[in-house]
Amino acid sequence: MTGTQSIEARYARRMPVNTLFATRVYTQSLRRGASDPLNARLLRECRQLSFEDGAGIRWSEANYPGGYTSYSSLSRMHQMSPTFAALQKRIDVHVRSFARMLDFDLTGRKLAMTDCWVNVMTRQVVHGLHLHPLASISGTYYVRTPRGCSGLKFEDPRLDRFMASPPRKARARRENQLWVTVPAEQGKVVLFESWLRHEVAPNPTEAERISISFNYSWF
Ligand code: FE
Repeated sequence: MTGTQSIEARYARRMPVNTLFATRVYTQSLRRGASDPLNARLLRECRQLSFEDGAGIRWSEANYPGGYTSYSSLSRMHQMSPTFAALQKRIDVHVRSFARMLDFDLTGRKLAMTDCWVNVMTRQVVHGLHLHPLASISGTYYVRTPRGCSGLKFEDPRLDRFMASPPRKARARRENQLWVTVPAEQGKVVLFESWLRHEVAPNPTEAERISISFNYSWF
């Protein structure tokens, strides 16, 4: 047990406070060993799409200024490319553990990937606050994350009910903060429930920040 944990454990014993209605965000590495080739293959295919997907390039010019996304053109990459299908298989395992942690009752049904698309963000490209309607679990896998690139910023889902709730201290404990940014780290996947609003702040790096986003629904 670390020093911090023991302080928290002592604090929890002293304070008669329970955490209810917790919002879970899951982060895990998908890498298999140091010489795992999957990420390099994904990187190649993401770049290729960003040069060759004419419909996506046109859509991005109007809706994703400065960047490229296949969200409206090639949004089922897991059904089109064996490389993305391999990524889906790896993510499936983590979605199953996340669903167990959330105590989802999926009797007779299962969570399956429905959409999977590519995002390429260069300098100052932004991804405004949004959620993922018609999905159960959503997430992002990070293919390339230049040092200093924007993370994934989550908003407290109760924010619209806070009314007279005072602001939080600048150094509030993480679980009491109203916005939390999870760093974007190459090789890692981040999962969250699809109703949780999130955004990516303007990317400060010249180098491309490349990610693959996806939705799972229950069938
Ligand atoms: Fe999103």
